[in-house]
This record gives sequence, C-alpha cells and structure tokens, in this order.
Amino acid sequence: MPAIVLEGVSRLYGSKVRAVDDLSLEIPDGSFTTLLGPSGCGKTTTLRMIAGLDSPTFGTIRIGDKVAFSLEEAKSLPPSKRGLGLVFQSYALWPHLTVAKNIAFGLEVQKVGKAEIAKRLEQVATALQINTLLDRYTSELSGGQQQRVAIARVLVMEPSVLLLDEPLSNLDATLRMDMRAELKRLHSETGATIIYVTHDQLEALTMSTHLALLQNGALQQFAPPLEVYAHPANEFAADFLGNPRINLIEGRIEGGHILCGGFNLTLPAGMDPGAPGAVKLGLRAEEMRLHRQAGPGMVRVRVTSVLPTGSDWYYQVRMNHQTLTIRQNATPHLSEGDEVFLEACLDSLKVFGASGKALAMSASVGDSA
Ligand code: ATP
Repeated sequence: MPAIVLEGVSRLYGSKVRAVDDLSLEIPDGSFTTLLGPSGCGKTTTLRMIAGLDSPTFGTIRIGDKVAFSLEEAKSLPPSKRGLGLVFQSYALWPHLTVAKNIAFGLEVQKVGKAEIAKRLEQVATALQINTLLDRYTSELSGGQQQRVAIARVLVMEPSVLLLDEPLSNLDATLRMDMRAELKRLHSETGATIIYVTHDQLEALTMSTHLALLQNGALQQFAPPLEVYAHPANEFAADFLGNPRINLIEGRIEGGHILCGGFNLTLPAGMDPGAPGAVKLGLRAEEMRLHRQAGPGMVRVRVTSVLPTGSDWYYQVRMNHQTLTIRQNATPHLSEGDEVFLEACLDSLKVFGASGKALAMSASVGDSA
C-alpha cells in the first residue's frame, strides 16, 4: 500500500497563482521520493501540504490508511497527528541548549528512557559526524553544522516518514557529497519513506528511488531517476536532468527517417512519428563519439572548444549552425578547429514532437543510415 497519496491536489494563492496544479501522486511506502524542479515550481508548497502546514485548495491527501486532508469530508489532520518528521531549509534550533539537548529534546518529551536516549544520540551523532559538537551551544555552530543538528534532531525520533526541504543547501560541496551518501544509507537502513525537496538534479539523481519532476506546479514525470534520465517524458524533463544539458537537435521525420542536423536515423519499428512537423532529437553528451576517420552514419563537424576536466574531455562542435557538447573519456585528443566525424551512440532514442512531448517508441534504435 502506498505511504502517501495525493489526488487532484491544487493550491491556489489568490486568483492568479496556481502554486500546485492538479497534482496526483502515489508515493510508495519506503521510497526515497524527490520533488524536483526549478525555483517556484511548487515543491515546498507540496511538502507543506503533506506536512499539514498548508491546506490544498482542492484535492485529497492520504497518509497510510488515514485521510490527512479532504475537502469533501471536511477533514484536515493537524501536523502533529500525521506521524511525519520534518526538516526545513530554515531550521529552528534552540540557541540556549547544547547540541545534545537539542537532539534529545523530542525523546525526553516522549519520556524515552535515559539509556535509550544516549544510545540513539550516539548513533545519530556518529552518522552525521557531530559527536565532537554535542556539548556546544547551537549558537556557536556554523550553518552547515546547525543543518546537521537539525537533521539529527528529526532522525533521532525514527519517524516512518521524513520530509526534507533542501536540507543540504548550507553545506559545502564535499560535506554535501558525504551527506548524500549518509542520507542514502540512513534510508536503506531505516526503511523510512523520505520525501525530499531539491532543485539540484544531481542530488535527485544520486539519492532517490523515485523522482517527481514539477514545472509550474504541474507534474511532468514520476519515475525512478535513471528512467527519467534515459526516457524523459518531454523536452523539459530531458533538459532539466543531466549536466551538461542535453543537446536538442532540430529537424523533422520524413519517409521513416529522423533527419536532425546531419543525422539520418531510421525510425524504429513501432515508433509513432506523431503529427507531421518539426521534431527535436535529444542526444546527451555521452551519447556521441568523435572520430578522426569517417564511418557509416557519421556527420562531419568542426571542433570549436576543447574543455578538459581531468577525467573527461568535453568538446563543443558545430553541426549545421548548432553547437553540440560531447563528452569523451578516451582519445582522440582533438584541438580547436579540427574537422572530425560525429557518431551518435544511442542508449535510448529521445525524439520530441512539436508539443515537446516525447514520441512513443519501442526499445530498439535502428541503424544509422
Ligand atoms: P524554491 O525552490 O524557490 O523554494 P518551490 O518550487 O519550493 O521554490 P514554492 O515555494 O512551492 O516553490 O512556490 C510555488 C509558487 O507559489 C511560487 O510562484 C511562489 O511565489 C508562490 N507562493 C508560495 N507561497 C505563497 C504565498 N504564501 N502567497 C502567494 N504566493 C505564494
């Protein structure tokens, strides 16, 4: 049974702002579900409605077998009755209490035994690397340390559903990477359902089991992150995930062929070409190879930039007035101005119709012509 279900949930502010627009989502029990999207797309509003800190204008929210909000049933469970743990971007720690006291506070309120509190405190402080800070006052901590205390304070309660709103935003890059691994480990160890808000696609890709991608308050795709990456439902999803951004090459479908830039790919059997008109072929940087020698299906291009990163080489090339970014992790090492040959090595064909929606397709790619 899914842990959390949203049915036709909308949140309107005044007559103009539709912060969340008819959102239906079944968040599976035990999943690490990330609400991802650009600033202002409705992520925090959605989380606040699940938490009970805000109410939908329309729709129903269920948590486990409880109705948390229903307009028809005139029902709205207060946040304290929803059995959720919350960590928000702005974490209110008590400055006059030590770190240990801040973390243990909720357990003390629940009259948990001293030995149990000490055990859980030790576990959570070790996991979040704050054991050396336990006797300090929270006012004496850096922003990143305070953020970890805020997470510890919630984790120590062992909630079955954990809501996290950009909890890593104050951490430096190294610590953020460590914390991602830590959160992922905590998720698999506790089996808790985690709902995580971020605008950082890498964070979403690395940690989540499920991704709910939002734009302008509306759900664009709900699937495991690598499925969204490999099979984006639309141009927005293709473009939002991945760094560098996906190359979108303009063209058309004609006589069973996808003609985009210099590429001429056979339309796979079973793929619906959609309504006639312009299409875009989506090619990720790692789905192309550069060769010094021409070969079947390759397109002649000119190298315009060479961007080594240490492990990989990024090249920008010009093809029919479009600049494409290509990632290579092996030779040849090319120079600006080189005339070379570009091959599409597709893991999954991504073609978007004029509406921006991905064309429905079967698994096979077909041969390059
Ligand atoms: P961010 O990543 O910047 O935090 P978000 O995706 O979490 O953004 P929300 O905070 O959910 O977005 O806001 C969604 C939309 O609703 C935005 O256009 C925002 O300006 C608007 N909004 C949010 N709260 C209110 C409010 N109290 N009154 C009016 N408009 C609001």
